[in-house]
Amino acid sequence: MTQASHSPAVGTPGVVPGLTFVDSHVHLDEPAFDPDRDEVIARAHEVGVARIVNIGYRPARWLSGAALAARHPGVSLVLGLHPHHADEYTDDTLPRLAAEIGRSGALAVGEIGLDYFRGGPHPELQRDVFAAQLDLAAQLDLPVVIHQRSAEEDLMAVLEQSASPSHVVLHSFDGTEQLAAFGRERGYFFGLGGLFTRAAAVGLRSIVAGLPLDRVLLETDSPYLVPAGVKDRRNEPSNVPWIASRVADLFGCSVEQIARHTTVSAETAFGLPAGARR
Ligand SMILES: [Zn+2]
Repeated sequence: MTQASHSPAVGTPGVVPGLTFVDSHVHLDEPAFDPDRDEVIARAHEVGVARIVNIGYRPARWLSGAALAARHPGVSLVLGLHPHHADEYTDDTLPRLAAEIGRSGALAVGEIGLDYFRGGPHPELQRDVFAAQLDLAAQLDLPVVIHQRSAEEDLMAVLEQSASPSHVVLHSFDGTEQLAAFGRERGYFFGLGGLFTRAAAVGLRSIVAGLPLDRVLLETDSPYLVPAGVKDRRNEPSNVPWIASRVADLFGCSVEQIARHTTVSAETAFGLPAGARR
């Protein structure tokens, strides 16, 4: 069944004429968006989501992401090898990744990291592939976007032992106070999306409320992680204003402040031109 089109409009929390946002993490090149990809991007722009950062997380997605970014000036690109796909790593992965980043103008290396939840590639392989990509990012002087699940201790250990990338984004932050403190001390950015909006995420909300507002990024992780309060089963970037309104509630400030802070933070984290703010 095709997705019911939803058209968020003024009146939806977070949608304010003139406010602009960045969706710092999406997968719009996935098949879930084959029926209506251009409409999805147009809907996002309509509600102020001026820039969308698409993550190509495995070699098969590097080209589809690059093609999408080439067609849409509002879409930027990040390329890397996700820990779920660490077993796709071969001797030529890093040279190919570096070449593809150079060719496409990708802004960062990601999403990379560790995910020990429900099996997946061997932890040792994941750590090696993660460390190798951290080194590449440091060599290329690029930021990294990190995916982490059920692997905090090892994640912090690898990060401590590796060369520091220019900036680090902990995407869809879902960590403990310990990881939050680790990231705060190092000036990491924290991506906030659907996870913290869930009714059961009481502990996560209290950790998120303690993050520095100037280190928060908004993201949807579309088509995944639909925020609580959104009826569609597929997430899309036009839900960013709704997420911003929930972040505003949590921080006790206005959506305007959230839009301004998170847009500047995204520009800083990814080295985006400040024009993304308009
Ligand atoms: Zn992702």
